[in-house]
Amino acid sequence: MAQLISLESLTGPGPMASVNVQGRVANAAAPMVALDALAAPAVTSEAMRMALSSKSGCESTSSCGSSDTKDDMPAEIWEKVKDHPCYSEEAHHYFARMHVAVAPACNIQCNYCNRKYDCANESRPGVVSEKLTPEQAVRKVIAVASEVPQLSVLGIAGPGDACYDFKKTKATFDNVVKHIPDVKLCISTNGLALPDHVDEIAKMNIDHVTLTINMVDPEVGTKIYPWIYYKNKRWTGLEASKILHERQMQGLEMLTERKILCKVNSVMIPGINDEHLVEVNAVVKKKGAFLHNIMPLISAAEHGTYFGLQGQRGPRAMELKALQDKLSQGTKLMRHCRQCRADAVGLLGEDRGQEFTMDQVPDEVSYDPAKREKYRELVAVERGEHVATREAAGKQLAGLAAGTSVLVAIATKGNGRINQHFGHATEFQVYEVSPKGVQFIGHRKVDEYCKGGWGEDASLEGVIAALEGVTVVLCAKIGDCPKESLTAAGILATDTYAHEWIEAGIVAWYEATYGTAPLAQMPGAAQALAASPAGVSLAT
Ligand code: SF4
Ligand code: SF4
Repeated sequence: MAQLISLESLTGPGPMASVNVQGRVANAAAPMVALDALAAPAVTSEAMRMALSSKSGCESTSSCGSSDTKDDMPAEIWEKVKDHPCYSEEAHHYFARMHVAVAPACNIQCNYCNRKYDCANESRPGVVSEKLTPEQAVRKVIAVASEVPQLSVLGIAGPGDACYDFKKTKATFDNVVKHIPDVKLCISTNGLALPDHVDEIAKMNIDHVTLTINMVDPEVGTKIYPWIYYKNKRWTGLEASKILHERQMQGLEMLTERKILCKVNSVMIPGINDEHLVEVNAVVKKKGAFLHNIMPLISAAEHGTYFGLQGQRGPRAMELKALQDKLSQGTKLMRHCRQCRADAVGLLGEDRGQEFTMDQVPDEVSYDPAKREKYRELVAVERGEHVATREAAGKQLAGLAAGTSVLVAIATKGNGRINQHFGHATEFQVYEVSPKGVQFIGHRKVDEYCKGGWGEDASLEGVIAALEGVTVVLCAKIGDCPKESLTAAGILATDTYAHEWIEAGIVAWYEATYGTAPLAQMPGAAQALAASPAGVSLAT
């Protein structure tokens, strides 16, 4: 009789000891997964495709552009995105990426960048704890792939530029695919050197390229880029921005011609390019970008960037949402980006990078695919159930006569479920729900409220501020104290839907609130909504 196991038993964090990495001693404290004992229902990749091909609730229950399903795109594109956590919103619940920092040289300067090393505490792009040689990176990837079954993507995403330092990018990828042929390869670039390498990128089967485009008007570029280095010369001012813009456009067109998926990242900088990004979105759509990812500027004086030192602020969550909403007719948007570190490992939103620093990676490693294969079988089952649940949730919503649109924040550890304690959340996933459907709109990072078993008031204030515009928090558990504080701030919180699928929980709450069951049944609801900044009105 097959023994069923859960995804969580395969994916729980643990030092890299319990799998087949040569030369390592098992860590007794780590939860050991006895792979021989695992038995899951036999699910083929075909069955997984079948499960996913049933029309999901996408039209009605999720419209983050990247959450399209198999039926919404050509088969070859679906194959490229279905397990990529950044190119598919749905996949990000199940699949992980890792970045390796092998290409530290950069050919431009952005006013928001300070390439920092040895920094374990900052979570933002461009920051890493260690630079790697291609040989070290290969060992690290093999060790991670054996240990982290969710791994599906290897990316080179700074600090530095993967195309400018292309020899190291190529050496790393060529070697990794010899060991792990099914890992997807992904690079990020500022685009200046991209046109010189597109043909090689195509030959290497790099299917995903992220191109950062912050302007299509070089005048705007002069406020973002102090200099570029091109053709053995340093360029500044308008000339620099013009060259960068032309090379970015050329690179994007070349990628599109070769059917390489291009995600455009744009950093939203209030007062500099925020309004201009509408034009950027239209231009990159015309040139064939697959996704557009608007990233809020992260800026603080202690980061040591030009913008940070100048006091340039980043956008508020609701400003970002307003811009994203304005772009709904343009290139599809990625809304689930976590602005990861350049050495991030794990699911989006988590970072296990510190478990895999080079001092913990053995000199000799061998790849054991068993854990990843088993995980994929389980995910196939889970995703099929998730898709069916989303579809049912969409129908349930469509049956409601009328209602308002509200934001719901979810505490989740992944796997598409409401499965995290309020106090342990370091981010909340935010969805917008109305009778038209459930739409993922982003995440809000917070400091963990409950540390060492005690709630911290200062953190709670930060959480409340981060939940601007949110009407209700759904979580696996919440204590009375934080719940009361949230209620006083106009935010409901409940663990009634613990361990439900996210969409099912949201719809059940929404129906209980705006459907036949009156909202007033929920303790504290009337008081919270009276204080709600969202100005929620009841339709029933
Ligand atoms: S291109 Fe990337 S690494 Fe280079 S300066 Fe800009 S953000 Fe930093
Ligand atoms: S920074 Fe955004 S696009 Fe890049 S790996 Fe993280 S989530 Fe994906």
